[in-house]
Parts: sequence; C-alpha cells; structure tokens
Amino acid sequence: MKSYSAKQTHLHNYQPIQTQRSFSQPNNMVLDLQHTFGNRATTQFMLSKKPNISPPVIQRAINPDLVNQHKQKLGIPIGEKIKILECPLDSNLKITDKVEKVPAEHRLNMEGLEDEEIGKILFGELYEKSKSEANMEIPNIVTEENKEKVMKQQELKNEAKDWLNSPFSLHLSLHGNAAYSYLYKVVAITQRQDDPLSQNKYNRDLLHEIGHFKQDISKNQANGANTNIKILEYHNIILHENLYSDTNLRIKYSNNADKDSGKSWDDMCSELELSPTNNALIKEMDESLKSHEYQVAEKIRQNLVNEYFYGRK
Ligand SMILES: [Zn+2]
Repeated sequence: MKSYSAKQTHLHNYQPIQTQRSFSQPNNMVLDLQHTFGNRATTQFMLSKKPNISPPVIQRAINPDLVNQHKQKLGIPIGEKIKILECPLDSNLKITDKVEKVPAEHRLNMEGLEDEEIGKILFGELYEKSKSEANMEIPNIVTEENKEKVMKQQELKNEAKDWLNSPFSLHLSLHGNAAYSYLYKVVAITQRQDDPLSQNKYNRDLLHEIGHFKQDISKNQANGANTNIKILEYHNIILHENLYSDTNLRIKYSNNADKDSGKSWDDMCSELELSPTNNALIKEMDESLKSHEYQVAEKIRQNLVNEYFYGRK
C-alpha cells in the first residue's frame, strides 16, 4: 500500500512548454498557465515582476547517469537517446539564440539541432509567428482612418518583441523550470542549484519530463498534439512521476483540482470515448490506480475530473 502526501507546490510542467519559479512567489495566474508553452501573455505579466534567481553555488551540468537511472525506472530501452537542453543558471541566453550557444555540458543528444533557435524548439509555430509579428511593417503615416489599426499593430509588434527578447531562463521559469517539447522530442530544464531541495525537485522534474518522452514514443504516441493536456499530465504523474517516491505520491497536477466540478469519472470518459489516444491513456491510468489504496485512487480520479472540467460551465 502506498502512502501519500498532497503536494501543494510541485507543479511541474509540461508541454510545449512550461517555467520554474524563478520568482519569489508563485501566483495562480502563472500556475494556471504553466505547461502550455505558447502563451505570450504570461511573459508579459511576469516581466512586470522582479526575477529572484539565486546564484549557483557549484555548476553541475546534465548528469548522464541520472538520465540512465530514470530511463531504467521508466522502462525506456537504454539505447533510446533522450534529447535534453538545460538552461544554465547564470546564462544570458535568449530564445532567439541558437542551440549551439548553449554550453556543450548543458546539452545531451542535441546533435543535429545546433543550428536551430531555442525558441523554435520550444514553441514551434508560435515562435515563427512571433518573429514575423516583430518584423511587421507598420505604416509611417497615421490617419484618422488607420489610427486604430496602427495602434493595434504596434501593440502586437511590441508584445512579440518583448516575448522574443525574454531570456530562455524566464520562459522556462514560466513553465515550472522544466518542460517537454514534443515538436522536437526535447526535454528542457533549468540547471539545478546545489542544495538538497533543489536537487530533489530537479531529479523529480526530470523524471516527469522523461515520462512525457516515454508517452510520446510508446505505442499510443501520446503528446500535446493529440491528447487532452489533463489526461496527459495525470497519466504521466500516475504511471511515471510517482515512481520517484512511494512515500511522496503526487495526487494532483495543479490547484485547480481543489475546485469541485460536480462531475464524475464517467462524465469525463463519455466525452473522450471516441478519442483513441485519450481513451488508451484513461485505460492505463485505470489499471494503474488499482494498485493504489482505494481512497488515494479515488482522490486522484476526482482531482483529474475536477481539472478536466475546470473552467467550463
Ligand atoms: Zn507534465
């Protein structure tokens, strides 16, 4: 039987893309948005806050032994290469920089992607769209007729520029400091600091992100493009992340789980029954939850249902 404790603060990340709190206080807006790589409004918002990044004590780069241990835990064949891009704590890297600018010790299996811009790897189309918006031509002459349109264009252009100019570390931080981009099957993570708590979080986050990689390469090929994000996250937490510790099970993805949806597991399943990937993941979760203590399993189910229906009427 597994014991558990609710994790109030561990919100991790996912998908095209997600940031770890480099900021002093998390807030709900940010927590709600993390793991959705791709929201420029988040960056705008966080830029108004003052980052509070602690200086590193010792620089440690990606540890291939840790990656191998995680692969073993998850049953990923040892020959399967996992691409990892780590953001060094003291870097001034921007998402417009190329991968080759990231020091080699902070890259694992990134061969062939050196020439890609970091933002392209993390955000794909949103990154390209932002670049074209940042370069958009705006009329020099403002008339009564075009005034409103010009102002809107200028605003969009500024927003795109701010977003593109934000540091790699900030973008990652907005996604919980760790994220998986299915676009290139790349795990992105902020270098860990050298204290035990940070190490523990880093190790666990890394397992979580490698779990997303496993979802992506397994028979269901589940990722953010074909699967409901909440299903994907709970499946990853239940089947992968929770292998990290028997005594510290994670039972929810975000605090939205605490808001009662008034809906049931069956309500959710009937919405998703025609969706093969979602359906397959639900079945695997169901199976895995059978090994949990009944009340814990029920709590996790209800948390998923609450998050799945969160924000709907
Ligand atoms: Zn995740």
